[in-house]
Amino acid sequence: MRKAIREDTALVTIMYANNEIGTIQPIDEIAAICNEKKVIFHTDAVQAVGHVEIDVHKQGIDMLSLSGHKIHAQKGIGVLYIRKGIAIPNLIHGGGQERGKRAGTENVPAIVGLGVAIEAATRNIAEKAAIITPRRNRLIDGLLKLPYTRLNGDRDKRLPGNLNISFEGIEGESLLLMLDLNGICASSGSACTSGSLDPSHVLLSIGLKHEIAHGSLRLSIEEDVTDEDVDYILEVVPKVVERLREMSPVWEKMMKGEQYQ
Ligand SMILES: *Cc1c(COP(=O)(O)O)cnc(C)c1O
Repeated sequence: MRKAIREDTALVTIMYANNEIGTIQPIDEIAAICNEKKVIFHTDAVQAVGHVEIDVHKQGIDMLSLSGHKIHAQKGIGVLYIRKGIAIPNLIHGGGQERGKRAGTENVPAIVGLGVAIEAATRNIAEKAAIITPRRNRLIDGLLKLPYTRLNGDRDKRLPGNLNISFEGIEGESLLLMLDLNGICASSGSACTSGSLDPSHVLLSIGLKHEIAHGSLRLSIEEDVTDEDVDYILEVVPKVVERLREMSPVWEKMMKGEQYQ
């Protein structure tokens, strides 16, 4: 990143935590480099808020975005934090609302709701993580017992409740349908691309082959997902994966040692 910053670089923006594989970036170090190079540092912290401790002042974060509906507030409300002294152009002109940045009457109920949601989400981050992380690890360990299966993203430097696993030889979309029939809500990537059959760009950019990226499952758990729920997931997912592999021509070829493509 140090090398990528040029004379004319105005802003560095990096996700705090990835929405698909949960990887948490070294935000403090990135902020320190930006600070040293006098470049503004913005982070998309949508996935991180309420899951990891964030302190914009201590961490040297100049700008930060977050979205309400990811922490149980309404859709359509979010926050852009801008450190005092940073001048950015107005988004919507014509009124003095939101310091002139975004003219138009404010949506007060949504704003108040987001305030309450943030308070609730950030109240006991450490306690929540202490409950969620062991459950998440149990899911990871249980699912990795299946052969030809890999965990995507770092095992430790990831959001407490995020799990992203690739199962070779199957299609993520069929896996999702079968899990849904069994009462398990999951995703194969991000909501923004759920209508598309292209494999996740995140998984491709961490080096997965197309056919492996296609067979990926993302599960997100919060503290209300109980140990019993974890047992249930560990019972259902392997069965469904095995069933799909039995029906998969790709898997058959793989097992015969043929090249699959
Ligand atoms: C969901 C999400 C967004 C988009 O927020 P919306 O309010 O849903 O548009 C942006 N960045 C990340 C990392 C997200 O997870």
